Amino acid sequence: MAQYDPNNIFAKILRGELPSYKVYEDVGTLVFMDIMPRSDGHMLVIPKTPCRNLLDASAEQLAAVMATAQKMSHVAMRAFDAQGVTVQQFNEAEGGQEVFHLHFHILPRRGGDTVRPPG
Ligand code: IMP
Repeated sequence: MAQYDPNNIFAKILRGELPSYKVYEDVGTLVFMDIMPRSDGHMLVIPKTPCRNLLDASAEQLAAVMATAQKMSHVAMRAFDAQGVTVQQFNEAEGGQEVFHLHFHILPRRGGDTVRPPG
């Protein structure tokens, strides 16, 4: 597996070098709105420490990110008026990953909707 690239887009967001619409932050994680939302309220949960993807994650990073993903799923239900939530995660280019900093997609869902495809 390739090394972590400290110049990936999400690393730049973490360093404040690129803007983002932040919705939640704690000691280990950051959540911001996806720039090309595939459902209304599409959020991304990332660890604050370097991590390429699930294959590169420590137990501590996973615990922090999953706890935040659960919090944001509740937020999706309440604040974004969802009736369900899809959580997605991709690993390596062949697995559909485009940004190489671990992230979980939180996709609020409503009756009869479809999650738009990436891109
Ligand atoms: P993935 O790597 O395929 O899981 O997808 C990366 C996601 O990051 C896509 O849903 C993009 O729309 C999103 N994305 C890329 N650049 C930005 C950004 O600058 N801000 C917020 N989301 C972004």
